[in-house]
Amino acid sequence: MSVVLHVDLDALAANLAEIRRRVAPALHMLVVKDDAYGHGLEPVVQRAWTEGVKWFGAFDVRTGYIVRAALGPEARIFVWMVGSIDEVRDALDEDLDIGVGDVGLLEDIATARRPAAARVHLKIDTGLHRNGVRPEEWPAFVARAAQLEHDGAIEVVGVWSHIAEASEADDDDARDAFDAALSVARDAGLRPSMRHLAASAAAFDRPEFRYDAVRVGAFAYGIRPAGGPDETALGIRPIARLSASVIETDPVVRIDATSLHGLPSSLGGRVTLGSPSGPRRLIALDTTGGSIEGEGASLVGEEITVYGPSGDGAGSATTLAEAVGTIGEEIALRLSPLVPRVYSD
Ligand SMILES: *Cc1c(COP(=O)(O)O)cnc(C)c1O
Repeated sequence: MSVVLHVDLDALAANLAEIRRRVAPALHMLVVKDDAYGHGLEPVVQRAWTEGVKWFGAFDVRTGYIVRAALGPEARIFVWMVGSIDEVRDALDEDLDIGVGDVGLLEDIATARRPAAARVHLKIDTGLHRNGVRPEEWPAFVARAAQLEHDGAIEVVGVWSHIAEASEADDDDARDAFDAALSVARDAGLRPSMRHLAASAAAFDRPEFRYDAVRVGAFAYGIRPAGGPDETALGIRPIARLSASVIETDPVVRIDATSLHGLPSSLGGRVTLGSPSGPRRLIALDTTGGSIEGEGASLVGEEITVYGPSGDGAGSATTLAEAVGTIGEEIALRLSPLVPRVYSD
């Protein structure tokens, strides 16, 4: 196993504690889409559950299923990508909370009716134009939801939206739109107990965006925003360290990067990797391997840190991302699923 992603579940637990401390009394819904941002869904949700996380943001129904199977009936699992009426039925059978951003889905949920009221979270479009009900259609939408709730088909557990977290002014506008939508929903007779708007950045920085719950993914995994505050300032740390071994030292020092093919080759020449003898510059990276140079001898088999918590000279996933103009999530997510994930706690 010469390329390995080492996932430190104690570091996850520490990040979860910091998130809880920062956002309380709002609840933390841990976002676990994309295989828990590439860290491995089941170990992550199991540890988070042990640490007291009760809500999980799964994105799709399939992920929701895996979380349900891992955690049992008490976990609250939120999905917001539900494509067909079959998926609606599957989601209801597994008691998933469904994010509803259009009236067609609301009607499908009513049609797929189960004995227990379906738990739904109504989504208002606050400006991102990504699957949400437009403000002009919102009054009719919440009126229909109130009727279905009255009939016992659904329970409106939440009202939610998503913000870009790129500009404070845009986020403020989105929050105004969110508050307006909440008041229209209230006038329609709805009493959602879960109002949620913020992801990582706004959850940490802007108390007025926290409402009843925040949906935090990146910071739980210790992925800081590109160009933003560092991990120390945020009080989090990366939970994963990607290592590769030296496979050749003559004429150049090469690391095995055959299963790093998810990483952009443009990292070559732009980043420093960590080694027992200190930082080493990555000269080139391609599908057959990477060449590195630095002070001191390298031995075949020596473990090189490609990214991870600071310590041996390597940067974090976001440090790599910044070198090639992207975000840390993209580095974490593009790592091949073939790379073994090894867990410690
Ligand atoms: C991914 C996602 C989040 C989490 O965002 P982070 O910045 O990773 O915390 C929250 N809400 C929605 C709708 C998302 O898709």
